Amino acid sequence: MHILVTGGAGYIGSHTCVVLLEAGHEVSVLDNLCNSSAEALRRVEAITGRSLRFVEGDIRDPAKLAQALEGGVEAVIHFAALKAVGESCEQPLAYFDNNISGTIALMQAMEAKGVPRLVFSSSATVYGEAKTNPVDEQAPLSVTNPYGRTKLVMEQLIGDWSASQSGASAVLLRYFNPVGAHPSGRIGEDPQGEPNNLMPYVAQVAVGRRERLRVYGNDYPTPDGTGVRDYIHVMDLARAHVRAVEYAAGNRGCRAFNLGTGRGYSVLEVITAFEEATGRLVPYDIEARRPGDVAALTADPSLAQVELGWRAELDIAAMCEDAWRWQSGNPEGYA
Ligand code: NAD
Ligand code: UDP
Repeated sequence: MHILVTGGAGYIGSHTCVVLLEAGHEVSVLDNLCNSSAEALRRVEAITGRSLRFVEGDIRDPAKLAQALEGGVEAVIHFAALKAVGESCEQPLAYFDNNISGTIALMQAMEAKGVPRLVFSSSATVYGEAKTNPVDEQAPLSVTNPYGRTKLVMEQLIGDWSASQSGASAVLLRYFNPVGAHPSGRIGEDPQGEPNNLMPYVAQVAVGRRERLRVYGNDYPTPDGTGVRDYIHVMDLARAHVRAVEYAAGNRGCRAFNLGTGRGYSVLEVITAFEEATGRLVPYDIEARRPGDVAALTADPSLAQVELGWRAELDIAAMCEDAWRWQSGNPEGYA
């Protein structure tokens, strides 16, 4: 298939481009590089020995979208979005515009070109404060911040749009906590400024770029008191997109799938796993809870296994080793 990947220069998008190219698909990328570097795409080409077509531009720009959809694009994987929860609370309109208006513009362009398949990057954030764990796709949806609201609204808009198009199919992928990097260490997560997420922060402490990790709270109702999450290797996630796009080719309608391992790790367990996998120490301080954090969130990923034939294969040791290979080989990211 010829697949357009919006946000393909970003963290998850670049890893997905590798797997798509290796599976023999033709790839076009539309990205405005607002949170990424074109160097990531050069490295994707170097890893795979294949080339992709890059259109630099914004998903809200109809001319760029039309250009990106040229050449017989048959499906779109839509990663392009702003994703920082804290920033979304300070600038909700920027998030509504980029994420929601951008997704509407994408659907308009797809409809105009008759492109029927859409795979969408959603998030476990749509479950808000889950009442029980693990969560399956039937769990009630709610939002706790403007970023999460954009994901929930986009899921609903995509559901309505795909229902209106005969022959259209949409797959909503709800990622839990993506971490790790390509095993070559040549592409990985390259957060701008201070990382918000745990794994890149841990890796930057280990490489000496930050002094100490702040552990946000050890008084949660979890086994060791620190927050529990379902970490998933970005290469497993990337493989799930290939399955999803193939599933969309054979199934109509709109389906949502959880993508996680089904196993939770606490913050302290992640630190220990990282230290064991890398031989590096990660000094930390216990601090107050971070506003908006939930105690625990883990996936029931069985629907993806049944319907997509996909399951996560890489464990926490691989996640830590690969995150470290990327971080230690590229201490300043792509810079
Ligand atoms: P990322 O920031 O690395 O990648 C997003 C890419 O989209 C970047 O390359 C950015 O330049 C591009 N982009 C943003 N707005 C754009 C626009 N208007 N036009 C064109 N390009 C634009 O983020 P990521 O971690 O790779 O996340 C990819 C997707 O997965 C996002 O939709 C994110 O919300 C979702 N997601 C991420 C996580 C996570 O923890 N990383 C978890 C759940 C869901
Ligand atoms: N966390 C932490 N210190 C950090 C970043 C995160 O203790 O510097 C904790 C956070 O409170 C949560 C877990 O690590 O329990 C995962 O947080 P992350 O931001 O990576 O993902 P989230 O699940 O919040 O999207």
